[in-house]
Amino acid sequence: MRCIFCEIIEGTISSKKIFENDELIAFHDIKPIDKVHFLITPKKHIENLIACSETDKETIANMLLLAPKLAKELGLNGFRIMINSGAEGGQEVFHMHFHVYGGSSKLVKI
Ligand code: 5GP
Ligand code: ZN
Repeated sequence: MRCIFCEIIEGTISSKKIFENDELIAFHDIKPIDKVHFLITPKKHIENLIACSETDKETIANMLLLAPKLAKELGLNGFRIMINSGAEGGQEVFHMHFHVYGGSSKLVKI
């Protein structure tokens, strides 16, 4: 299974990369919804949280723990994480990713 994010991971589609290790990659969203908006995604093609199992829990934890580190490096003192999961959850790219964004003073509270 290959998708647009697999191509970003392989480097066939370019991106503004922030971080990469053996397991994860992070890059700026092409259509930012905030001053800073980046995506953290596993290199392994997993569709979404719905498709995750026990074997993915370390990856999910590593994704969450990476968010504050990268947010700080990008100058954010706080951020939000959004995980669109499934078409009914607004997901458009079916390769699991966590949106990390922040920087605006006027955030819509939910
Ligand atoms: P989803 O709706 O699946 O949670 O979010 C997909 C996100 O991927 C969107 O915010 C969209 O702007 C971003 N995106 C889609 N295609 C590309 C691309 O080619 N490069 C980058 N950097 N972001 C993309
Ligand atoms: Zn993929």
